[in-house]
Amino acid sequence: MTRSCARPGCGEQASATFGYDYAHSTVFLDILAEEAHPAVYDICRRHADSMSVPRGWHLVDRRRGPATLAGHLTAP
Ligand SMILES: [Zn+2]
Repeated sequence: MTRSCARPGCGEQASATFGYDYAHSTVFLDILAEEAHPAVYDICRRHADSMSVPRGWHLVDRRRGPATLAGHLTAP
């Protein structure tokens, strides 16, 4: 099954999945989920790489494994 990027006007094939963790003000990026999930969104490589997050939020890129953090996630 092929899914396309969730960004308006973008028809690229999705290569990543992202979602919001409101409790921790974090946006997480993951490799494309096997199945679509109502709480996450599919996004293409280009948009994933240029992902920006709201002021005060953190971006966690988990596409290269759980140990790789992009952004500034601080321990509670
Ligand atoms: Zn896109």
